[in-house]
Amino acid sequence: MNTNFTQWFLHASDESQNRYQTLMDKAVKLITDQTTRTNHPFSGASRQEIEKAVKKVRNIPTVGQEIDVVMEEIQNGLVKNSLWVSHPAAMAHLHCPPVLPSLAAEVIINALNQSMDSWDQSPAATYFETELINFFARKIGYSHEGDGVFTSGGTQSNYMGLLLARNKACQTYFSVNVHKEGLPFAANKLRILCSEHAHFSVQQSAAQLGLGMNAIVKVAENDKHQLCPNDAKKKIEKLRVQGLLPFMVVATAGTTDFGSVDCLSEIAKFANEEQLWLHVDAAYGGALLFSHQYRHLVSDLCLADSITIDFHKLYYQSISCGSFFVKDKKDFQQIAYHADYLNSEEDQEDGIINLVEKSVQTTKRFDALKLLMTFKLMGTDLFGEMVDYTINLAKETALLLKEDLSFEVLNEPEINVVLFRYLPSEHFEDQTFVDEINLGIQRAFYQSGELIMAKTKQDEKVYLKFTMLNPLNTISSMQAHLQRVKQVGEKIEKEQGEIWYEYSIYR
Ligand SMILES: *Cc1c(COP(=O)(O)O)cnc(C)c1O
Repeated sequence: MNTNFTQWFLHASDESQNRYQTLMDKAVKLITDQTTRTNHPFSGASRQEIEKAVKKVRNIPTVGQEIDVVMEEIQNGLVKNSLWVSHPAAMAHLHCPPVLPSLAAEVIINALNQSMDSWDQSPAATYFETELINFFARKIGYSHEGDGVFTSGGTQSNYMGLLLARNKACQTYFSVNVHKEGLPFAANKLRILCSEHAHFSVQQSAAQLGLGMNAIVKVAENDKHQLCPNDAKKKIEKLRVQGLLPFMVVATAGTTDFGSVDCLSEIAKFANEEQLWLHVDAAYGGALLFSHQYRHLVSDLCLADSITIDFHKLYYQSISCGSFFVKDKKDFQQIAYHADYLNSEEDQEDGIINLVEKSVQTTKRFDALKLLMTFKLMGTDLFGEMVDYTINLAKETALLLKEDLSFEVLNEPEINVVLFRYLPSEHFEDQTFVDEINLGIQRAFYQSGELIMAKTKQDEKVYLKFTMLNPLNTISSMQAHLQRVKQVGEKIEKEQGEIWYEYSIYR
């Protein structure tokens, strides 16, 4: 027998174990070396340069190559030109530096390779996930009827919220079991309310679930970018007059754009009065559950019928790691499917837990271990302090920006996002000019790799955005960043201003 392939699997032989150790050591070294290789979050390589470097990796050999050759290719083609998310100057998106326990847990998750769909494929891991879900359900404030499941992230969790709410509404309004019979004809009357800044996956889910994007009714926001309950009530009334069926409201605890947290108690109140399903998208703000200073912002999460919480954002877990919760576990029955090979009805009678019944995925990662190891090693107190630190730093940064006449701040940070823009000393009344300078600043910093920030548009104006997840950031480093942003802004202003001036004379 040709046994050359056996060395590539884990088993009780020195050869296998040594190879596993070697590959792991080299992989770890590749990453630890990167921490010292550069002092910037990005190499600044152009797309052309990156495409060229990747081409070298494209050559797939018919005969295996030496480890060091492959590792070097990966270093040059991938690691070198990756966005280094653990660098404190990488502040563009809700894209976190993963904590070390999460990285160590991944090693265990990968090697055990449990699949969370059926108990027989994850006999112990099933209970780990269940324990962690129960721990969170209690933390949210749900009763023992509360339940949940790990998901691939916020998009999937929001989809599940809409899915369960839609099925329940069709049962209530049309006595139709959508799971069996499909959507009733009149399903196009169903309406979902959410604020302007609700995540796009809400609308996308409505489209995927056969309700159409038009099923989403956008509710106005107050000046803190929170969903305005009064406008919601008006809209509901209007919808009913039109013969339409509002059945759900989606609130957001931590909008992606502003980090603003909707007033959950007020929304829950009218949702209850109007018999609407309340889903809270706490993909971002769900981490406040452990905050010492800001927990009050999410203390009413327990009023929601369903909740999205992402762990690969402000919980500092490696991608992917998310979760979905329901107040009443019976609601999962709306999507339960019994496959004889996975989760037969007999299994259920025997009390065997098959998580597939609560999930829209079949084969599923054991992501719960990452979060468990993080809490076990760090403790929830330290975790909460870390979240508070980043939020307070964002608030302090907003103050720095306000003191400086070269900047305009858009939001009072409720959590750790700051939106701002550079204001030129001349032509500042010309929106297009101001927009161009700010776009230029964002681009220039990405191209140098020095500071990674996001650009976004609010009220037709371009803003720069710091999403300050990284606890390694300090107020003095933020001060230095702002000075640099100002320098670059002034430089672009000078270059562009001359062109702009000439152009405006002839306009
Ligand atoms: C990130 C985010 C989502 C989407 O979550 P993914 O994990 O990226 O799928 C949904 N809602 C909010 C508020 C988010 O910030």
